[in-house]
Amino acid sequence: MKGQFPVQRFKAIETPFYYYDTDLLRETLRAVHQEVNRHPGFHVHYAIKANANPKVLNVICQSGLGADCVSGGEIKAALSAGFPASKIVYAGVGKSDWEIDLGLSKDISCFNVESLAELEVIEERAAIMGKTANIAFRINPDVGAHTHSNITTGLAENKFGIAMRDMEEAIEHALRLPHIHLKGLHFHIGSQILDMGDFAALCNRINDLQNRIDRMHYRIESINVGGGLGVDYVHPNRVSIPDFKSYFSTYARNLKLRSHQTLHFELGRAIVAQCGSLITRTLYIKKGTAKQFLIVDAGMTDLIRPALYQAYHKIENISSDEPRETYDVVGPICESSDVFAKAVDVNQARRGDLIAIRSAGAYGEIMASQYNCRKLPKGYITEDL
Ligand SMILES: *Cc1c(COP(=O)(O)O)cnc(C)c1O
Repeated sequence: MKGQFPVQRFKAIETPFYYYDTDLLRETLRAVHQEVNRHPGFHVHYAIKANANPKVLNVICQSGLGADCVSGGEIKAALSAGFPASKIVYAGVGKSDWEIDLGLSKDISCFNVESLAELEVIEERAAIMGKTANIAFRINPDVGAHTHSNITTGLAENKFGIAMRDMEEAIEHALRLPHIHLKGLHFHIGSQILDMGDFAALCNRINDLQNRIDRMHYRIESINVGGGLGVDYVHPNRVSIPDFKSYFSTYARNLKLRSHQTLHFELGRAIVAQCGSLITRTLYIKKGTAKQFLIVDAGMTDLIRPALYQAYHKIENISSDEPRETYDVVGPICESSDVFAKAVDVNQARRGDLIAIRSAGAYGEIMASQYNCRKLPKGYITEDL
């Protein structure tokens, strides 16, 4: 499937860079909308942290999704891309005063509150500004997800959210605060989840919590189940669009939503991962004692996932049809973990060949750093070329 890249156009561009296939992005967004529309009351927010490239945000915003933010900077990025404040939700264990003030002054839809200490500060800031803050409590559901341990967030041992046993106390406390409007409950159990059973387990946990809240005679308006739907990193061509149908229907089947409630999702990776590739140039082929290294001009500063989570990304030589050879594909950064993949088969490479590191649209460009005084990679969309 090398034909899907405009390789001739790529040759003129300084490497490394990110390339976003906006046809695939739009197709993915259509698939999301098609499946969400089957379920009245379901709303999807795009998790800005997966990719905040303004051109990518623009396409996503135009499709009509809301935004999920985890910092004041992301709220600004969402607003400048055109997401309406009324569709912005804001989570995070450590919200600074200026970030809370920004959310209040823009009248965002909901603060997802992660501690009682934070609730007090939001009440205080809202009182000063003469505003009422819409909030949801982020509850830690103590539900494990079958994914990498660095990207589970819903276990009791993780730093996120309020413990289930403290939920009633938190709700009663919020109801006493004059500048707080308690709208709902929020959850997020982790990322790159492909086992629908994990989401079903979350639904069961929420059903129990809802029964507890019913006993308090309090009406919750909205439930937010976060994101976490994974993508197929091994087969980016064959499975280029995640199984949104199974994902949303798992919630429709398992979650006992009350008739007046809306259900909110915060999808990041599932929307942007497959449309993005990191394009890099082969610098050298270096023969080691027992292996050969394909040294490219991109490194962990451009895409940190392999170094950070031992993440797999499919690697293709998009300049070569030569027989495949086995390489360790490595970057130029002075860290032993600056390795994209070990012992992978790639069409025989020569200096100058362009290499595509696939499924890099999520948690790629946005996590780039300038370590080793490197330039940040640029991002191009189909329309730029
Ligand atoms: C990161 C994050 C998401 C998005 O996760 P994905 O796995 O990219 O879908 C959603 N909600 C919250 C609160 C997050 O922190």
